[in-house]
Amino acid sequence: MRLILLGPPGAGKGTQAANLIDSLNIPHISTGDIFRANIKNETELGKEVKSYLNEGKLVPDELTTRVVWDRLDQEDCKCGFLLDGFPRTIPQAEALKAGLIERGLELDKVVNIDVDTDILVKRLAGRRVCKSCGATYHVAGNPPKVDGKCDSCDSEVIQRDDDKEETVLNRIKVYENQTQPLINYYTKEGLILTFDGTKPIDELSQEILDALNESK
Ligand code: ADP
Ligand code: AMP
Repeated sequence: MRLILLGPPGAGKGTQAANLIDSLNIPHISTGDIFRANIKNETELGKEVKSYLNEGKLVPDELTTRVVWDRLDQEDCKCGFLLDGFPRTIPQAEALKAGLIERGLELDKVVNIDVDTDILVKRLAGRRVCKSCGATYHVAGNPPKVDGKCDSCDSEVIQRDDDKEETVLNRIKVYENQTQPLINYYTKEGLILTFDGTKPIDELSQEILDALNESK
């Protein structure tokens, strides 16, 4: 299956992706994770994108699209993929569509996770991530079993630099201006499935899997 996870920052895209990929048996491709790994490893790409991430701005479309296709053209994506955080603009969606057509491929569905802004702010302020494997937690709603330590790999659990309050509000504005129009774009394409992102994590994963099965 070729799927997109759409939704504002903090909607739970990464959390759901972690739950869904095993059942769907496809790789989770998060542009945010790719950029953060490059920043951590101080690659040329990392140096180029660092200021955009720190300020909560979008990395330019052309560069982002190139990074995504480099990843989607790898062998493990031949059976499908779960895109998280891409596309985030209409030009990115158009570039994805053109690239898929070029390769004789199609998207199956766009999973849109809907959460109100006031809840997003609370979620992002309390989000903590594992420094090593990227597993996602929340200080109140979904804390690691041992304070500050990742359940899966025991590494340190930290706050993302772009989850500070000023950047969070900026990222939500960027979503509203540049990414939200994609809901209409993919509705017109007949691909959208919308879910209530305030449901408990596991219940929501099951609902998404059921809807994807029904739509086959
Ligand atoms: P995104 O990838 O869309 O930015 P995350 O998956 O990182 O969002 O989730 C943002 C925060 O919200 C995390 O702290 C996560 O633990 C929490 N979270 C995710 N899904 C839910 C949910 N269904 N209910 C409550 N909290 C959630
Ligand atoms: P995320 O991990 O999805 O919250 O993304 C973190 C940051 O990475 C965003 O605030 C952007 O700076 C950058 N980013 C991730 N995906 C994209 C994209 N598709 N287009 C542009 N910038 C992106």
